[in-house]
Amino acid sequence: AINKEHMNFQAEAKQLLKLMIHSLYSNKEIFLRELISNASDAADKLRFEGLTDGALFENDSDLKIRVSYDKTARTITISDNGIGMSRQEVIDNIGTIAKSGTREFFNSLTGDQAKDAHLIGQFGVGFYSAFIVADKVILVTRRAGLTAEHGVRWESSGEGDYTLETVDKKDRGTEIILHLREGEDELLSGLRLRSIIRRYSDHITLPIIMKKEEWSQESNEYRITDEDETINQASALWARPKSEITQEQYEEFYKHVAHDFEPPLTYVHSRVEGKQEYTLLLYIPSRAPFDLFDRERRQGIKLYVRRVFIMDDAEKLLPNYLRFVRGIIDSNDLPLNVSREILQESKDIDNIRAGSVKKMLGLIEDLASSDKEEDCEKFKTFWKEFGQVLKEGVGEDYANRERIAKLLRFVSTSSETDEQTVSLDNYIARMKEGQDKIYYVTADSLKAARSSPHLEIFRKKGIEVLLLSDRVDEWLVANLTEYNGKQLQSIAKGSLDLGKLEDEAEKKEYEKEADEYKELVTKMKEVLGERIKDVRVTFRLTESPACLVVDAHDMSGNLERLLKSAGQ
Ligand code: ADP
Ligand code: MG
Repeated sequence: AINKEHMNFQAEAKQLLKLMIHSLYSNKEIFLRELISNASDAADKLRFEGLTDGALFENDSDLKIRVSYDKTARTITISDNGIGMSRQEVIDNIGTIAKSGTREFFNSLTGDQAKDAHLIGQFGVGFYSAFIVADKVILVTRRAGLTAEHGVRWESSGEGDYTLETVDKKDRGTEIILHLREGEDELLSGLRLRSIIRRYSDHITLPIIMKKEEWSQESNEYRITDEDETINQASALWARPKSEITQEQYEEFYKHVAHDFEPPLTYVHSRVEGKQEYTLLLYIPSRAPFDLFDRERRQGIKLYVRRVFIMDDAEKLLPNYLRFVRGIIDSNDLPLNVSREILQESKDIDNIRAGSVKKMLGLIEDLASSDKEEDCEKFKTFWKEFGQVLKEGVGEDYANRERIAKLLRFVSTSSETDEQTVSLDNYIARMKEGQDKIYYVTADSLKAARSSPHLEIFRKKGIEVLLLSDRVDEWLVANLTEYNGKQLQSIAKGSLDLGKLEDEAEKKEYEKEADEYKELVTKMKEVLGERIKDVRVTFRLTESPACLVVDAHDMSGNLERLLKSAGQ
């Protein structure tokens, strides 16, 4: 055709594809799950846009996904009547294999196949998993709302380039035709395709349809009839009784909503009754995404109203510090035409949000307090992946501050490793007699914290000190001044008052010594002049001759450095 265009993938794409095919081959049937998952997303998008522009449905609001195969042509076809794509959307969404972070991703590959398969899964190959089984993929699509002549045909053999043509497409939506690689003919079977769909895509709420097949005596094989048949249960998984949902179904549903290849760490499924009625099914992933700290990243919660999909990325449903959570919330009370603007104002949403936060914290608390080995491991993983984000909650969620603080884990002077395992409760249980404060030091690395001269007196007296060196820690201690009635106290701030931990005899001794150095102190103040606030004789140090301290109400040295490096 005249309008046929040749385009290249970005440089890393070819390499990524090769790696992916190689490492995911043992699990090749997931290509179907990925394509069905995309078709379902496309239907969700149409429903969402259709809320404000009903014409997009083009008199066909019966959304479904169709799967068929052709033994002679050796093809499998997946089609949907969802939102479809414009030419530019095909270039942006399909022509760009890996979105942000491709380079970082390549740098993190290890060469170890099992590990890399995990990473690739985590990176999300989605649409491109089609190339695991196909050596030619054709995608024909038309965006809802555009006229039939605005169809687009994309074709690629996954070798680094693709072609793009404008074609006529009568029906809105997307059709994907896979030309199978040599040796993949076992997939050209109604039985096999049905079993893959039931296994991986049963939770999809749209009907997944195939043509019925009948046994034919004369040809001695199944023959495809003209009659449609729905393969999946096509009902909302979260609305089914828990006892009827298998572990595998929970996991597959997670992979779909979270766009993740790996199973989740844990989940909570609960129906809440009372002022507001809603069902939630929320998951914690096993691994932090690459873009956990990227403000542009997508949020993870889908909102439904009475089983009808309303919107993706409903950021109002959970606070920022729980942004790693994925899943759905289905309300019985919200109006079906609820918009983002309405959500911003809604008291009902505030209620749902508060309830969902409670459930999530409860889920994490269960892991933290469990005696089961498996749960302890899970909590460790949770803390390693998401602990830094949870710490933000102490400042963000005033109402749940104590609960969040209880979940925090730190390194302290009693830790034998660099792993954050000490809770504030552990710390309090180990406090010395007469100690009434929780002591901490902040620094920009754990090494710097460990070698802080401020620690000397604490070592001598055997008092534990928390070593805080995560970026978010300054923000944390600015917001957490007290826990369980115990004040949190920086050991690098102000004149250190050890209260009852000092004995009277020691105090007398210090005062006498301070007297002896009076002249020296005056001399030093003269020399240093404006550059300092004060010079004091101290009993803090046992080995170092001197150290810098800031006033009790001044910014800590570490915070000052952080702000400077952020250009403040
Ligand atoms: P993800 O689903 O995680 O976004 P994919 O690689 O599976 O990644 O898909 C890439 C993008 O291509 C999707 O985000 C979507 O914009 C577009 N896309 C894929 N399949 C379809 C489809 N059937 N209908 C409309 N858009 C699609
Ligand atoms: Mg996808």
